[in-house]
Amino acid sequence: MAMTGVLRPGHAQLRVLDLEESVRFYTDIFGLVETGRDDSGRVYFKCHNERDHHSIILRQAERAGMDFYGFKVLDDATLAKLERDLNDYGVPTERIPAGDLLETGERVRFVAPTGHTFELYAHKSDVGDGLGYENPHVIIDGRKGISPLRMDHWQIHGSDLDGSRDLFINVLGFSLVEKIVTEDGKTDIACWLSCSNKAHDIAFVRDERDDTLHHAAYLLESWEHVLKAADLMTLYDVSVDIGPLRHGITRGTTVYAFDPSGNRFETFCGGYNFYPDMKPYIWTEDQMGTAVFYHTRELNERFLTVVT
Ligand code: FE
Repeated sequence: MAMTGVLRPGHAQLRVLDLEESVRFYTDIFGLVETGRDDSGRVYFKCHNERDHHSIILRQAERAGMDFYGFKVLDDATLAKLERDLNDYGVPTERIPAGDLLETGERVRFVAPTGHTFELYAHKSDVGDGLGYENPHVIIDGRKGISPLRMDHWQIHGSDLDGSRDLFINVLGFSLVEKIVTEDGKTDIACWLSCSNKAHDIAFVRDERDDTLHHAAYLLESWEHVLKAADLMTLYDVSVDIGPLRHGITRGTTVYAFDPSGNRFETFCGGYNFYPDMKPYIWTEDQMGTAVFYHTRELNERFLTVVT
């Protein structure tokens, strides 16, 4: 097996201002599958193609944003090793007991230099994608709304970008795939990191607002599905930030929009395959518009300023 260590973004707990309105949005318009509710009132969802019990958890709160970001790791030995490696690097960790999140094993939690709470876990119940493990079909009839395949990546903001970037590369085994640097080349403005074969699993952006979420991204099958997602956003009067468009960075296609609480999400498709022997692409600050929005070559104010 080539892929070991940290496998993928596995779950995130999103704060929403009105739980039932958000449940309706994420079920009927976004097209996620509700998989459970726990005693504290949290609601669990997965994307239709995901096999693990959940990838997004909604929690009612006074303020929008993300409580924590969870990465699935290969197995218990990997979890224990990464916990030791974090501690050796000077990062304290906390064990959250199995069952604190429905159908999820023990989690190792830590706070990154950008202020975000991350956790690693090795186990979550496989509930399947509804297609079966023997002679599976390829589609489910009756998918609702935008209906992404899976959670794909997160873009998050904080002041100590260098600290979080180095932690993810040196301890968690991520690779630098692309970055934007100041014109003197000395300072990273943003970086895109992969723990897998994807063009990115997480992006950090330098921003004095620590522990903030720019967007959670979900994968769609094709560019046509991105267009359909944009059509559905207008049909259902979803607040769109920008798109459909193509990124220079990752070369993915996308629409950005906001959920009813103002949390930005991205419906993303494409992006090249990454291998760890690939040299990172470097973008300079003067080309930041092209890097992010390849065709219009300029960033919009809302995209630059709104985080939750
Ligand atoms: Fe993104």
